[in-house]
Amino acid sequence: MQDETKKIDIKSLLPEELDEQLAAMGEPRYRGKQIFKWLWSGVTSFEDMTNLSKSLREKLNSTFYITVPVAVRKQVSKLDGTIKYLWELMDGNAVETVIMRYKHGNTVCVSSQVGCRMGCAFCASTIGGKIRDLLPSEILDQVMFSQLDSGLDISNIVMMGIGEPLDNFDNVIRFLKLVNNSDGLNIGMRHISLSTCGLTEKVDKLADFNLQLTLSVSLHGPDDETRSKIMPVNKGYGVEKLMKSCRNYFDKTGRRISFEYAMIDGVNDTPYHAEKLSTLVGGMGCHVNLIPLNEVEESPLHPSTPENLKRFISILHKHNINVTVRRKLGPDIDASCGQLRRKSLRDKKEMRADYNEFMGSY
Ligand code: SAH
Repeated sequence: MQDETKKIDIKSLLPEELDEQLAAMGEPRYRGKQIFKWLWSGVTSFEDMTNLSKSLREKLNSTFYITVPVAVRKQVSKLDGTIKYLWELMDGNAVETVIMRYKHGNTVCVSSQVGCRMGCAFCASTIGGKIRDLLPSEILDQVMFSQLDSGLDISNIVMMGIGEPLDNFDNVIRFLKLVNNSDGLNIGMRHISLSTCGLTEKVDKLADFNLQLTLSVSLHGPDDETRSKIMPVNKGYGVEKLMKSCRNYFDKTGRRISFEYAMIDGVNDTPYHAEKLSTLVGGMGCHVNLIPLNEVEESPLHPSTPENLKRFISILHKHNINVTVRRKLGPDIDASCGQLRRKSLRDKKEMRADYNEFMGSY
């Protein structure tokens, strides 16, 4: 077997970098585009690039490798058609991807890391910590192969799956450039949302790129006491510093921040919290997205009661804060916010059997 680690991950290269590599191999300029298109069609080996000469295909194969994720599990919600994939990556790790079917188009929710090291008390993705960052190609593959497998056109992307995207900054930026490329999926930045738990210096760094994506910030607490209790990351930064970075992001990009706020019974859902949140975000270009907490088996936290949710919303309304409540999608297949998790593939055989059975019945 060849040592893949010495080869270059071709799908993580930007088109101009691919051109350079090919020029160094003595190939004409148009070759890069040709190969880029093949990669976007979902080919899994250089062998399949049938309009290239055999000798070039062999040369490519000894210099580059193509990441190939395998869908080891596919679940479809009976309630709303949400689809969840579990992909096995080339090193045996696995991540989840969700396709949500909205009226305005199909949205794919991608993971950015295998696991997560942020330690939020309410989130399943962080159980077991972070194993590794995903490559740009591995984030891209989630979009590409979900689209190919489901046959659905994807028009929007949310980076809200497993992992903290800004903790994998360079790979995420590269993914964004790739997915945005006109020879690739050509998904506009305005159709992409990136969610962060609030790594402030990375938010500042992102602002300097001036991408027109929507930044979602997982706030979940309007003061340090509340937020630090459920989000360890807050101890390093603090709410005030986070808000400063959010204001800077808005000033530099002109894009309204979307604050995510999971409503947790007795933790962050009292009138005090609603007033405090209104003062915190009032007057800035933003939007508050309330997420009734999704239950995570290992966590003792519960969603707010409908009455408390209503009371919270009415206080925000009183202060003219833009507020929406996130619709819960795919609850029957654990595909809702915070329910995605890194899976061990010890029961791999069983999962493959599941998948084959599913595909057979479709
Ligand atoms: N690490 C990034 C990306 C994850 S996005 C971030 O923290 O933003 C997933 C969103 O779902 C985040 O807003 C996260 O805080 C929220 N979330 C996590 N667990 C949840 C749960 N159990 N119920 C509702 N929302 C949850």
